[in-house]
This record gives sequence, C-alpha cells and structure tokens, in this order.
Amino acid sequence: MKDYRHLLIEDWDQEKLDNTTVLLAGAGAVGSQTAIALARLGVKTIVVDSDVLEEHNLGNQAYSRRHLGLSKVDALKSIVKEISDVEFIAIKSLIENLKFDNYKIDVLLGALDNIGARYYLNAVAVFSGKPYIDAGIEGYAGSVRTILPHINSCMQCWPSIIKERKVRPSCSQDPIPSVCITAGHASNFQVMQLLNFLFGKEVSSFITFDLQRGIANPINLNRNKECELCGTIPSTG
Ligand SMILES: [Zn+2]
Repeated sequence: MKDYRHLLIEDWDQEKLDNTTVLLAGAGAVGSQTAIALARLGVKTIVVDSDVLEEHNLGNQAYSRRHLGLSKVDALKSIVKEISDVEFIAIKSLIENLKFDNYKIDVLLGALDNIGARYYLNAVAVFSGKPYIDAGIEGYAGSVRTILPHINSCMQCWPSIIKERKVRPSCSQDPIPSVCITAGHASNFQVMQLLNFLFGKEVSSFITFDLQRGIANPINLNRNKECELCGTIPSTG
C-alpha cells in the first residue's frame, strides 16, 4: 500500500483514479507536464503526439537532453516508467489518425497547438459523449475548457470565444510564444478539472488565467441549443 500524500486529502478517491483511462492528445509544453502528473496520480494514460523532441523543446517541456531525437511519446514513456507502474500507452500519431474504437477511454484531455485538432477532439467528445478537457496557452496567459457533452457548452457552441486563437497548421511551422511556467499552470488547472469531474465535484466549463497579473477567472458557459454540432443531438443531461 503506497502512502502517497495525496491520499490524505479529504474526499480523495484513488479507486476512481485507478479505474480511469485518459486519452491525452499532445505531449508538448502542457501535455508533457500533464502526463507526468497523471502518472503520479495513478491514472492510466494513452498519449498521442506525432512530434520528435528537438533542442528548443527543452525550454518549456518536461524533457531532458537524453531524450533529444526520440519521439515525444516514447520520451514521456521512459519518464513515466521511472515514476510509476501505471499503464501508459505511447502512440506516435496525429490525433486525427487515431482509431478511437480500439481503446477504452473514459476522458479526453487536449494539450494541442492548433485549433483544427481541438475542433476534431471536440467533435469526438460530442459524438461519443465523453468529457473533454482542453488546455491552451500563449505567452503568460492560458485557458482550460471542460466540455461535458450535451450538458454544458461544447467548443462550437459559442465560436466567438476562441476566435482570438489563430488557426495554426502546427507549432513547429508557426510557433506560439510560451514559457514553461504558463504551461505548468495550464496543466495544473487541467488535471484539477479532471479530479473534480472524477470525484463528482463541480467543474468550471471555462477557466482563463493570466499568470503575469496573478488572475484566474472560472466561468460557466451554457450549452447553445442552436449549436451546429451539439445542438442537433437531444440532451442526455
Ligand atoms: Zn455545442
């Protein structure tokens, strides 16, 4: 029996975590930190990313020099294996090419660098009914969205909310300014929302933060019944 200190937290439900499998899309600045947190918490993780680790990634991602030249997912696997025996599946692929039906997945986590992949996972969430927790960063600011399909707002319910994020083909072609501390903050909010959901606590559908100004704003976005994506499916909530 492990005596991890998080087990001392009131209402902590390790059995729930032990029985949860998370799909994590993206193993970059946010995703690498989220994957390591999930390993420490004993959550089974399937991580999907197509990138190979490059020198510039060491500035804001949870890797070491010894991982240079490895795929990010294989590098993460080697890190996680030193932390935990929890199951960790590494898939080097674009998320759009993953055959979701081949895996048992309870919750989708997104740590992606482009809006197209976010919309794709949002659609997967809406059609599968699985929760989707998306984290994004730019500079010292970021946001985390928790989408409970047909219960609160999906990513397409209110398109104007994310219009400020430009469509970027990929991070390597059009890099987003980011710093490790912002990524850590987004990752922490993302994992906290996962814990809230799994432990039956209230989740915030949209958290924005500005690390430089020391501000975090949680708000709840209602579902738009006219939404092109989730509005056409009867509510199950
Ligand atoms: Zn919607």
